Amino acid sequence: MTGTNYPSAKDRITLVRGDITKLAVDAIVNAANNSLLGGGGVDGAIHAAAGPGLLEECRAVGGCPTGEARITGGYNLPAKHVIHTVGPVWNGGGANEDALLASCYRNSMEAAAGRGLRTIAFPSISTGVYRFPKERAAKIAVRQILDSLDAHPGIENVTFVSFSDGDHGIYKSELRSLC
Ligand code: ADP
Repeated sequence: MTGTNYPSAKDRITLVRGDITKLAVDAIVNAANNSLLGGGGVDGAIHAAAGPGLLEECRAVGGCPTGEARITGGYNLPAKHVIHTVGPVWNGGGANEDALLASCYRNSMEAAAGRGLRTIAFPSISTGVYRFPKERAAKIAVRQILDSLDAHPGIENVTFVSFSDGDHGIYKSELRSLC
């Protein structure tokens, strides 16, 4: 029998500990706020590295509802594009936070696939200033990305970028638990 062996979704996930602004991928995902006009954390780092052209394009986009995603150029970043998504602020778990966080990952992957992008890197959305519990967020992220990789076979690789050793360990054990 002949055929093509497509790598399983799990084999298309990479874990990296480091700074997402340094990655030369087709798109990095920004944990933005509803205004898309910049902020602290990873958002501030991305705008600082991309330069003023990014802010100008974001201003023209005109904002983004929580759970949705918008795509722009990457300007001075090594990444070609930035996908801006707005995670939920953690408010105890009864305000649809889990579903909104999953939507961020799903809609970012749809935006990437719609543009024919093949390599995407995500930070840990909502787990900084927005206070989403880290283990719970990593579980949602990994599960949604596995589903989205199945849905979008043209996406070759998703990298989860952790900014601390602790976050990196959480993703490692989450992926290991799926063996
Ligand atoms: P949110 O407002 O969605 O919580 P934050 O930027 O405050 O967004 O935090 C999201 C995650 O991004 C946190 O885990 C934080 O440690 C991480 N982070 C901050 N800067 C960077 C960076 N340069 N590269 C990758 N991850 C980063």
